[in-house]
Amino acid sequence: MRSVFEDEAKLDVNYLPPHLPHREAQLRSLRNFFSFVLERPYEMARNVLLVGGIGSGKTALSQRFGVDIEEEARRKGLRIKYVHINCQECRGSLFLILWRVMRAFHPNFPRRGYSAEEVLGMVLDVLDDRNAYLIVTLDELEALIRKGGTVAVYTLTRIQEERMGAPRRLSLIGILRDVRWLDRLEESARSTLQRNIIHLPKYTGRELLDIVRYRANLALRDGVIGNEVIEMITDMATESGDARYALDLLWRAGKYADESFSPVILAEHVRRAAVLVYPMTRVSDIDHFPRHAKLFLLAISRFLRQSQAVYASMGEVEEMYRVICEEYGERPHGHTQLWKYVRDFADSGILTIKASGRGFRGKTTLISLPRIPAEYLEKDLVLRLGA
Ligand code: ADP
Ligand code: MG
Repeated sequence: MRSVFEDEAKLDVNYLPPHLPHREAQLRSLRNFFSFVLERPYEMARNVLLVGGIGSGKTALSQRFGVDIEEEARRKGLRIKYVHINCQECRGSLFLILWRVMRAFHPNFPRRGYSAEEVLGMVLDVLDDRNAYLIVTLDELEALIRKGGTVAVYTLTRIQEERMGAPRRLSLIGILRDVRWLDRLEESARSTLQRNIIHLPKYTGRELLDIVRYRANLALRDGVIGNEVIEMITDMATESGDARYALDLLWRAGKYADESFSPVILAEHVRRAAVLVYPMTRVSDIDHFPRHAKLFLLAISRFLRQSQAVYASMGEVEEMYRVICEEYGERPHGHTQLWKYVRDFADSGILTIKASGRGFRGKTTLISLPRIPAEYLEKDLVLRLGA
């Protein structure tokens, strides 16, 4: 039986499409904004902010820009590097963010022994040595603002200015879902960020239709999806204007078509997909957690489904996790690591935690899953984790 997919990976969150329909204007703004790096690299570095809701194409836009500008610089014989960092994945730690930036130049750069400021200084030295320019995107900048606040942003934007006489080689692209996050910063840090803002408005129904059609063409075999079904998917995503939601629906509908040996994607497959794809709980948020974090989340959802309990204790899910590791032929990670995953999941809103009150023997952490049925999450993770 042939799959409806020509190339399933082209619907993956990590795939960067060659074009971004309906983001041409924003891409042009971004290019214009940084054209000075290509034309007059001795000019001052600049910072810009991309602001738009979930699935409005912020990550894709900045990555498209990054690939393109590196390419163009190469043709012109200039050294421009683009580095994309997700602050949430770095748990909002300025040090981890800068460490990842440094690793783009020195893959073996040690994790310990330096402060964030020192690493930033070293990055700037590397740029000086190589006569190179660097554009760093801070995706999900909320995480850095939440954790590092004014000091972190200030460090990033101002250290360069203190290097008197040296050219400014580091530019920043910040990505935020809501510009009001800037209100959490003191004026000094806010002003450098809010000067240049590119807005990504919510996609309209028409725009989503073009996007879904375009991505379907890239990922699916010819003739496996009809116009009405594409429109159905688009309609479901129009309220949120979330392209990721639409593409998740498309991908999963395709999986259901394959699963039921259907040569085409039918409305019923989309309906089944819709039950599973929650616009609220970002399945793709889960995607960028490491494999064992996913295994652990699978343990949590399985435990909560089987027990029908409101809360699971840390001990209970660790036990389930060890069983699951055996199923998947993986060696279980230790308590400290699992505890970190729990906190990261809690930070990103996937689950909530609280300390146990009286009535429990000893003190433990209680985990609950407020936003998504455990059964759906479990099914989703099983799909994502593969066989
Ligand atoms: P955000 O970062 O704003 O949440 P993303 O950039 O991750 O959104 O986009 C969500 C998904 O939709 C990604 O898979 C991305 O490739 C896709 N996407 C977004 N905008 C477009 C577009 N204009 N054309 C094609 N695909 C798009
Ligand atoms: Mg994003």
